[in-house]
Amino acid sequence: MDLLELLRFQARRYRCSACGENMADCGINVLAQQGNRALVRVTCASCNDENLLQIIFQTEAEENKVPAIDEGVPDVADPITGDEMLELHSLLSSHEGALTELLVKR
Ligand SMILES: [Zn+2]
Repeated sequence: MDLLELLRFQARRYRCSACGENMADCGINVLAQQGNRALVRVTCASCNDENLLQIIFQTEAEENKVPAIDEGVPDVADPITGDEMLELHSLLSSHEGALTELLVKR
């Protein structure tokens, strides 16, 4: 996830302090970035209120802190891994006959 994506993701959780609109559609401009800090200009999509934000990233070195990035990440129950796909593929390609047969046989 790059900086802009991350900011966009975080913005959905905030409301404009001037008009109260959700910031999901706000304009985001990264004005400066240095090390783990960035200066960002956020513009409200509905009232054009501008805010300057200083963002400080938490690096992996600061492992005692909970990274803010993890918040709101959807829970994916058992995503299919590449290995499982390969397994399925070789199973199917070595199988001759109807697919339903494959499902019944155990
Ligand atoms: Zn606004």
